[in-house]
Amino acid sequence: MTALLEVQDLRLHYSTLRGQIRAVDGVSFTLEGGEALGLVGESGSGKSSIALAILRSLPKNVVNYGGAVYLEGVNLTELSNEEFRRKVRWRKISMVFQGAMNSLNPVLKVGHQIIEPLSLDKSHSKQEAQQKAESLLEMVGLPREIFHRYPHELSGGMKQRAIIAMALILDPLLVILDEPTSALDVSVQAQITNLLKRLKAELDLSIVFITHDIALTSDICDYIAIVYGGRIVEHGSVEQILSTPAHPYTQKLLASIPRLQVGTKPEFIPGSPPDLVSPPPGCRFHPRCPFAFEPCDNLEPPLFEVQAGHEAECWLYRDRSRAGDILASGGPS
Ligand code: ATP
Ligand code: SF4
Ligand code: MG
Repeated sequence: MTALLEVQDLRLHYSTLRGQIRAVDGVSFTLEGGEALGLVGESGSGKSSIALAILRSLPKNVVNYGGAVYLEGVNLTELSNEEFRRKVRWRKISMVFQGAMNSLNPVLKVGHQIIEPLSLDKSHSKQEAQQKAESLLEMVGLPREIFHRYPHELSGGMKQRAIIAMALILDPLLVILDEPTSALDVSVQAQITNLLKRLKAELDLSIVFITHDIALTSDICDYIAIVYGGRIVEHGSVEQILSTPAHPYTQKLLASIPRLQVGTKPEFIPGSPPDLVSPPPGCRFHPRCPFAFEPCDNLEPPLFEVQAGHEAECWLYRDRSRAGDILASGGPS
């Protein structure tokens, strides 16, 4: 069966005075229709850049953009920018950008901003556009009259709901949400994740949910991909990643989250994230890894299978027959 989204060897490098930042450096994953994938990693690991590369929303200083993105088997990389804008953006894949709720235009009514993507689609009359926006407002849990309100009249959670309504205006197959809850307090965060869960089920919507907070993914996501230094270093089902994290970075990441460490003190991840201008040779995590051994500082690990559907870019899993023992012991023997 053809996957809804297949990303192959995606690369996005930025030019800066310090040199090229390899923000996305060979990222591959697939997503089926109606499923949700969490992209999780520390600040600066490349999560937003992965989304921008998929949506071809590229900053001016991009110097290396490569790889392939397939949507329902169609290679989007082969479309011209104009075709991509007309056929894909908003219509097939839409995005809730990081910080979007704070960049609503203060002098435009919320409703007019929600229907803006419909201007791509001349087949809607003004009245139809308003009706569509109002029913989407209801769907995301807001009163229809919000259409006529200005952004400053809405709370943070309401603004985020309105932005989600806007992302749905052209009935996309996939919505990418970049840190949609990070500016909200905990109870509002939970309301937004519940909303996304409901939309996923009701609309059979596929979701890429970007967050630095792995605990948030368990509510919405079916799968998690861990992003480190511009690469996906581990992926698997939510259950696999949360209960048997394989990559030492994922293990440290989970151990650092207070909410997931009931009864034990959260740990700090030692060292600092890699400099993406000159990432460490071999495994990018090796300067911080307590288990680093002979190949780690000079050979890049490929993805090794840990369990069916669960893979990690880590030399510890070179010999699959030992994977179970390593997971159980928390490190190499
Ligand atoms: P955060 O959690 O803080 O949002 P992120 O995982 O989304 O981080 P990105 O924003 O994708 O990370 O950034 C990846 C790397 O690329 C970082 O080192 C960042 O400083 C750098 N970067 C991002 N955008 C640009 C740009 N336009 N020009 C130069 N460097 C950039
Ligand atoms: Fe640690 Fe080596 Fe695995 Fe990298 S490859 S995470 S350095 S054990
Ligand atoms: Mg980001």
